[in-house]
Amino acid sequence: KKLGWALVGLGSLSTHQIAPALAKAKHSRLSAIVTGTPAKAEQWKAKYAIPDSHIYNYETFDKIAENPDVDVIYIVLPNSMHEEFVVRGAKAGKHVFCEKPMANTADECRRMIAAMKQAGKMLGVGYRCQFEPHHRECMRLAREKTFGALKFIEAGFGFQIGDPTQWRLRKNLAGGGALMDVGIYALQACRYIAGEEPVEIAAQETKTDPVKFAEVDETISWSMKFPSGVIASVMTTYGFNGANYFTATCEKGRFGMDPAYSYDGLKGWTSRPEVKIEFPATDHFEVEMDAFSEAILANKPFAPSGEQGLKDLLAIEAIYKSIREGKAVKVEGI
Ligand code: NAD
Repeated sequence: KKLGWALVGLGSLSTHQIAPALAKAKHSRLSAIVTGTPAKAEQWKAKYAIPDSHIYNYETFDKIAENPDVDVIYIVLPNSMHEEFVVRGAKAGKHVFCEKPMANTADECRRMIAAMKQAGKMLGVGYRCQFEPHHRECMRLAREKTFGALKFIEAGFGFQIGDPTQWRLRKNLAGGGALMDVGIYALQACRYIAGEEPVEIAAQETKTDPVKFAEVDETISWSMKFPSGVIASVMTTYGFNGANYFTATCEKGRFGMDPAYSYDGLKGWTSRPEVKIEFPATDHFEVEMDAFSEAILANKPFAPSGEQGLKDLLAIEAIYKSIREGKAVKVEGI
C-alpha cells in the first residue's frame, strides 16, 4: 500500500529531490500540494497529474483535513514556518513529516511535539542520513565496538553560500546560519555515532564577511563532551567549500566518511583494509519517506521523531549560548 503525501512548499528541495523520490517510492506517493505560487500549482498539476481538489494554498491548507487521499503532510518551508504548519497539520488530523532543522528554537519544537501528541498522529523529522547505508554501517561499527571503544569524533559540514538575499541569511526565517542549516548534519553524526547526548559545549564563531552575515552565523567550531567521556570537535561554515566529513577515533582504529552528507557519491573508510564501508547509491529521500510510511502502516514508533529534533535544538541553543557568553556551557533541558 502507498500512503498519500502532501508537499507543503514547492521550493528547491521539493522540486529536485522529494517529488522525484516520491515517484519511485514503494510505500509513498505524491497526492497533494500546498503552494503560495499559482504558477507552480499549474506546473505541478500538469507534471504530476494532481487534481484541482488536491491543490491548496497557505490559506486553504486546513481543508486538507477533509481529504482522505492525504495521509502525511510534509513541511518543506523555511525553518521559521515549520511550527505553524506542523501544528496546523496536527489539527487537520494528519501524520506530519518536517524538514530539518525542526524549528528555530527548542520551545517551538516542544509545542510541535505537544500538538502532534494531542492529535494522536506521528511526527518525523527529515534526518535523511539516518536512513543511508554508509551512515547506518558507521553506527553499527561504533555500537559493536569493531575498532574498540569510541574515544573522539571529528565532524564538519559547510559550503560557500551564494545569493545574499536568500531566506537562509535572514535570522527571522532561518533561525541562524550555517549551524542551523548544515552544521546540524555534523551535530547529528556525532550524536548517532556516540549513541549518547552531549552534556557540555564550548564554541567559537568567526565572521569574514560581517555584511553578508549580519544576521546569522558564518563559521562556528565547537567541542562537545559526552557522558561516557567521548569528546567531539565539530565545525560548520557558510564561508567556504570542502568540509563534508566525520571521523571516529577508537581504541584500536578509526573509521569515517568523506564526503559524508551529500545526496550521492558518499564514501566510507576504515583504518583496517579488511573492514570496508561500501554500499550502492541510495536515494535518501525515498528511503526516509518509505520508512515513515511503513511505520505508520505498521503502527510502530518512528525515529527520528520530534524528540530527536528537539535534542538537536537544545545542543544548538547551547552552542549559541557558549558563543555569547565566551565560555563552556551545559546543555540544558534534555
Ligand atoms: P527553498 O528556498 O528552495 O524553498 C522554500 C519554499 O518555501 C519556496 O517554495 C518558497 O516559495 C516557500 N516560501 C513560503 N514562504 C516563504 C518566505 N517567507 N520566504 C521564503 N520562501 C518562502 O528552500 P529549500 O532548500 O527547499 O528548503 C526548505 C526546507 O527544507 C528548509 O527547512 C531546509 O532546511 C530544508 N532542506 C533540507 C534538506 C535535506 O537534505 N534534508 C536540503 C535542503 C533543504
